[in-house]
Amino acid sequence: MKRQGIGDQTRLAAGGLKDFAQGLFRPRLRLGVTGLSRSGKTVFITALVNALINGARMPLFEAYARGRIKRIYLEPQPDDDIPRFAFEQNLALLTASDRAWPSSTRSISQLRLTIEYEPRGMIARNLHGGTLHLDIVDYPGEWLLDLPLMNLTYQEWSAATIASAEVEPKAGHAAEWLLHLSTLNSDAPADELAAVKSAELFTSFLARCRSEDIGMSALPPGRFLMPGDLAGSPLLSFGPLRVGADQQLQPGSLGALMQRRYDSYVTKIVKPFFFGHFARLDRQIVLVDVLSALNVGSTAVTDLKSALTDVMSCFRQGANTAITSLFGRRIERILFAATKADQLHHTSHDRLENILRLLVADAASKAEFLGAEYDVAAIAAVRATREARVTQRGEALECIVGHPQKGEQIDKTIFDGDTEAAVFPGDLPANPQEALDGGLEGQLKFVRFRPPVSEVGRLPHIRLDRVVEYLIGDSLS
Ligand code: GDP
Repeated sequence: MKRQGIGDQTRLAAGGLKDFAQGLFRPRLRLGVTGLSRSGKTVFITALVNALINGARMPLFEAYARGRIKRIYLEPQPDDDIPRFAFEQNLALLTASDRAWPSSTRSISQLRLTIEYEPRGMIARNLHGGTLHLDIVDYPGEWLLDLPLMNLTYQEWSAATIASAEVEPKAGHAAEWLLHLSTLNSDAPADELAAVKSAELFTSFLARCRSEDIGMSALPPGRFLMPGDLAGSPLLSFGPLRVGADQQLQPGSLGALMQRRYDSYVTKIVKPFFFGHFARLDRQIVLVDVLSALNVGSTAVTDLKSALTDVMSCFRQGANTAITSLFGRRIERILFAATKADQLHHTSHDRLENILRLLVADAASKAEFLGAEYDVAAIAAVRATREARVTQRGEALECIVGHPQKGEQIDKTIFDGDTEAAVFPGDLPANPQEALDGGLEGQLKFVRFRPPVSEVGRLPHIRLDRVVEYLIGDSLS
C-alpha cells in the first residue's frame, strides 16, 4: 500500500490555502459535475447554465423565486490550463430547428458563472456585496475511479484487476485478454510490442464491459476509455501482469516496463487531476443513468451500485490528513441525481429516486463518514417528453409522448426520428429492492428521445430547480 507523501500533502494544503485566501472576499463555489460516460453531464451543464442565464421556471430555487437574484452572467474561468465548457455551441445544437443532443464529455472543462444577488445578512452585504462566483467543473466519472490508484502499487493493482476480470459477468468479456496474459512472463525482457498488444486487448475488454448491452461500469485506469488528449500516448501502453504482491520486478524486464508506465500514469495523470481539480471542489453532483442500467437488467444495476460505492470511496482520498483538514477544501455536499427521468411518467419519479437511494446507500454511509451531506433526486435536465393517458384494450396506460430518436425500436417498430409516439415504458416497482433482485427483467423499456421543440432559450426540465437549490441555495443567503 502506498502512502501519500509529505510533498502531496503540501500540494493539497497550498492549493487549499490559495483558494481560501481568494474566496474570503470574493466568495466562490466550485461545483464538480461527474458521472460515467453518457450519464448526462453535458446536457445537464448546458441546461443548468441556460436556466440560470436565460431564465426558466424554478419555483424551488428560493433566491430566484423570491426575486433576490439581480443578474447572472458568464465570466472568464479562473483556470487557464483547462478548456472552457462549450456552453454556447451545445445550446445552439439543442435549440436549433433540427434539434440534436450535444457531444458528450470526453475530458475536463470549466465554466464560470457570476451570480449577483441581494444578500439576506448584513455581514454578507458588507463583505462582498452579494456576489458569488460559481465555477462548474465537468469531468468524466471514469477519471474518478483512478483515484484509488494513488494508494496501490503496480503489483496490487494488477492482482485486483485480474481477480475482478476472472469473475462473471466480466469473465465472459475478458477471455481474449486473459488468454494473451497467460502467454506473458513478467521476467521476460521488456518488449514494446507485447506491452502495446496487452494494453490494446485490455482496453477492448474495458470497452466491451461498458458497451450499451452489457452496461457494466468502468474499471480503472479511467483514461484507457476516456483518454482526453492522451490517445496513443505511451502513458497508456501498459496493462496488468500476473505478478506476486511483493515480487521485485527485474530491471529491463517486461514487468519493470509495465510498472514504470503505471507509476508514470499515477504521477503524471492521476495526481495532477486530483490535486489540481478534484481536491478543490466544494460541491459535487454525481449523475447516474439508472434507467439504462434497468434496461439491461439486474446485473447492470448491481454493478452500478458497486461502481457508485467505489466512486464514493474516492471522495475520501485526501480528506483524512491533519494538513488537509486545516487548509484543504473538502466536498461539503453531494447530490446523486438519476438523469433522464422524462423517459418515465411522473408517477414513477419518486420510485426512481427510491431506487437511486438504495443504490447509493453503501456509498452514502461513506459520505456521512466524511462529514459531507448528501441527497438524491430524479431529474431531467432537458425534458424531451410530455405525458398522456392512452386507453388500450380497455386499460388506461400512463404514457409519455415524444419523438423517439432515429433507429430506436419498440417491438417491431423502428423509429425514423420524425414521428411522434406515445410510449408506455412500464412502471417502476414500489419496492426498490426489486430493481436489484431481478424481478423486473423484460418489464421495462426506455427509449431515447430527440430533444424537445423549445421556445427560444427555454428548455423544459424536471426538478432542475431542486438541484440548484440543494447545490448552491445556501451560498446565496
Ligand atoms: P455525458 O457523457 O455524461 O456528457 O452525457 P450527455 O450529457 O452527452 O448525455 C448522453 C445522452 O443522454 C444524450 O445524448 C441524450 O441522448 C441523453 N440525455 C441526457 N440528458 C437527458 C435528459 O435530460 N433527457 C433525455 N430524454 N435524454 C437525455
